[in-house]
Amino acid sequence: MRVQVDQDLCISCGTCIDICPDVFDWNEDEKAQAVVGEVPEELENDAHEAVESCPTSAISEY
Ligand code: SF4
Repeated sequence: MRVQVDQDLCISCGTCIDICPDVFDWNEDEKAQAVVGEVPEELENDAHEAVESCPTSAISEY
């Protein structure tokens, strides 16, 4: 799986980074972004939880 953060929807709450810091991190605009291409299998559950937990549904999973 891959994940992508819609920069227009991200409100910089930090939830995704708290849940899955190996996949999400802050960018220079102080928004979250994915820092990996393909999410490693062992991180898929956490990445999925981050997708589900984003308050603005800014993260797409594909
Ligand atoms: S959980 Fe959603 S709104 Fe919060 S930092 Fe992550 S992408 Fe942005």
